[in-house]
Amino acid sequence: MPSGSNQRKRVVSGMRSTGKLHLGNYVGALQNWVAMQDQYECYFFVADWHALTTDYADTSRVKENSIEVLLDWLAAGLDPERCTMFIQSHVPQHAELHLLFSMITPLGWLERVPTYKEQQQNITEKDLTTYGFLGYPVLQAADILIYKGDFVPVGEDQVPHVELTREIARRFNLFYKLHGGQVFPEPQPLLTRTPKLPGTDGRKMSKSYGNTVMLTDPEPVVRQKLKTMVTDPARVRRTDPGNPDVCPVGDLHKIFSDPVTMARVNEGCRSAGIGCIECKGWVADALVNILNPMQERRKKYEENPRLAWDILEAGSARASRIAGTTMNEVRDAMGISLEYAAARTPQGAK
Ligand code: SF4
Repeated sequence: MPSGSNQRKRVVSGMRSTGKLHLGNYVGALQNWVAMQDQYECYFFVADWHALTTDYADTSRVKENSIEVLLDWLAAGLDPERCTMFIQSHVPQHAELHLLFSMITPLGWLERVPTYKEQQQNITEKDLTTYGFLGYPVLQAADILIYKGDFVPVGEDQVPHVELTREIARRFNLFYKLHGGQVFPEPQPLLTRTPKLPGTDGRKMSKSYGNTVMLTDPEPVVRQKLKTMVTDPARVRRTDPGNPDVCPVGDLHKIFSDPVTMARVNEGCRSAGIGCIECKGWVADALVNILNPMQERRKKYEENPRLAWDILEAGSARASRIAGTTMNEVRDAMGISLEYAAARTPQGAK
């Protein structure tokens, strides 16, 4: 256990095992996780079971994708000495708690989750009318509550998921008591800043749009991708003034560039004093400055993947200890303890 962890509030968060991560994943979550390591006792897991809720038909890359996610976490600065990292399926207690929660969760609560209908409509190439997909938020509740997380870092749009976790905790606590007390605390959402990060085509950066800059992209690839990025449509000719506030490249500058560069962009774009190629070059410089040290750190683990696997094993062992303690409490509270002494024995039995 990282030192001093007893005094710190506990944070739990997961990321689906989607393979290599892109800048959107970094800005939307990972960057915050790295910053939280010293302030909170952090449990970060690669959510491979969650990936199966949509990608169940072909599981050939799930394990490899989980490792790639972990490598990017380590590259971005998550430190196994300061946080616990593991793969969800390596701590099977998540599944047991999910099962028990599924007994008490009303169907209507799940059908009302905004992303349920939304994703079914958007992901038309897969059959998502499955039991596992509907139960996704119940698994999420188990992921968080099994560690009795105090906080769950989320963007505004994911607050309803945390609310559902709180409702499930409340319902469990209502039905089952442990020595007269409650088993689960109600975790709070920890609202994190998730700035709008456009992809190279101006839409939200996403693997499914093919518009990403990956954390592993080498410098020439980053520069090439930036060169083809869409800009303010009003700026057709070099002599036309533009507006960084409506330009996706301007959005990248706001996130990654220093104030001096930002001032040069604002002035130069609005007065047509700079060209878009020059402006894109500046943002590419900023990205390369962030990505180079990450790629340097990643190399160590790519050359020796066993190191990364050892980190996962140590993380799983640490997480399992806490998850095991919680499950003992859950079983006790529900009257299905594994202890012989706690079971009601038939008359005359010893
Ligand atoms: S100068 Fe920069 S901010 Fe302005 S339109 Fe071109 S790329 Fe966008």
